[in-house]
Amino acid sequence: MTYQYWDKETETLPRGDLEAFQLSSLRAAVVRAFGSPFYAARLAEAGIGGPEDFRTQADLRRIPFTTKGDLRAAFPYGMLAVPKDEIIRLHASSGTTGVPTTIYFAKKDLERWSSYVARSIYSTGCTRSDVFQNMITYGLFTGGLGFHYGAEEVGMLVIPSGPGNTARQFRLMKDFGTTVVHATPSFLLHVQSKMEEEGVARSELALRKAFAGAEPYSEDTRRRIEKLLAVDVYNSYGLSEMNGPGVAFECQAKDGMHLWEDGYIAEIVDPDTLEVLPEGETGELVLTILCREATPILRYRTRDLTSFYTEVCPCGRTHRRIRRITGRTDDMLIINGVNVFPSQIEEVIMAMGEVGNNYLIVVEKDGALDRLTVKTEVGPDIFMDDARPLNALRERIRKTLQASISINPHVELHEPGALPVSEGKAKRVVDSRPKDV
Ligand code: AMP
Ligand code: ZN
Repeated sequence: MTYQYWDKETETLPRGDLEAFQLSSLRAAVVRAFGSPFYAARLAEAGIGGPEDFRTQADLRRIPFTTKGDLRAAFPYGMLAVPKDEIIRLHASSGTTGVPTTIYFAKKDLERWSSYVARSIYSTGCTRSDVFQNMITYGLFTGGLGFHYGAEEVGMLVIPSGPGNTARQFRLMKDFGTTVVHATPSFLLHVQSKMEEEGVARSELALRKAFAGAEPYSEDTRRRIEKLLAVDVYNSYGLSEMNGPGVAFECQAKDGMHLWEDGYIAEIVDPDTLEVLPEGETGELVLTILCREATPILRYRTRDLTSFYTEVCPCGRTHRRIRRITGRTDDMLIINGVNVFPSQIEEVIMAMGEVGNNYLIVVEKDGALDRLTVKTEVGPDIFMDDARPLNALRERIRKTLQASISINPHVELHEPGALPVSEGKAKRVVDSRPKDV
């Protein structure tokens, strides 16, 4: 196979040069971080005086970890390291109630982000001749605009379709000859399952590649999409705290995702002891973004579990590969690509007086998509045989939940005492989606 590179020099930089670049970028990142109120305090507390404290990459370990909780506590501007005038965009993590985790971008930050995404897209064998349909949510979520500008940078024709409405997606694919799509893996399967119903023949479509990410999926699911939709599927990994997409991406070898190490320092730590693990072992990915001016983030605990490949990729890129994400170290659910913590659902329903004490969150597959059902008991003052107030309550719970978690749940009401009570630690979440990673 002949591999193509967007920026060959950077992508194939000898390890020694790459690591030297990381160290000098880390020093610069520390200087910038001191400009944010959060890190000025955090770094001083850790006894870090300035960039001179970083002589080797191992010195990175002196920096305390940053968590999602830190980002929330610093909301809105505690992590900002440049004057407000310099920021031109913000993104926020999907599905968070109350205090979102918000990332700000200066002009250069957006250019750099687009270049990582462009490099990723190009590494899969796409070119400016491709027509790219971005079937993912635009808005505060980073997947939409992140891919959009990256694909424009490559020079592809970009169709900003967003997700949903499969009939319209097929129409666009046919009208403009879409060759590449981006979506969550569940939406790709959903699109495929609608083809027959919509009267679309595969031969009418010019599709050749698909980027799938934003939620965990297995190698089996990839193969399934590849077979059913007859496209090459590439795994795409990113998170809003680290810009969004373009952190790690599969190349044409389709075996592990190159993590762009000129943009990020990646560590894999034991989630319990937080010690850095030997290369190849599975643990939690910790990321430091090296060049972002507006919102520097050092040693961010992603909660995502993965490991490094120890072998070099046949494509010749020197940036190390990570394996498919196999799970998380916290209880965050990803439902049709939207992040939801069970505690957010609890907060909403427990604030409603008519709701009883017990509830259950059920996540299952409904065709290719995920389906969320929230079952709650009603309080003792509600009569179960009076349908009108019950329906009104159900509707109110549904709407309030939807407003807070950005997912439209099914709501089931049950009599007091009807839901199972567990003897030990309450089991509030039943996730029956297949875990065949
Ligand atoms: P967000 O900040 O909303 O973009 O969500 C980021 C999270 O989505 C990550 O921390 C992962 O848990 C998950 N995620 C994103 N891409 C992938 C992927 N390709 N495979 C598995 N999980 C992913
Ligand atoms: Zn490769």
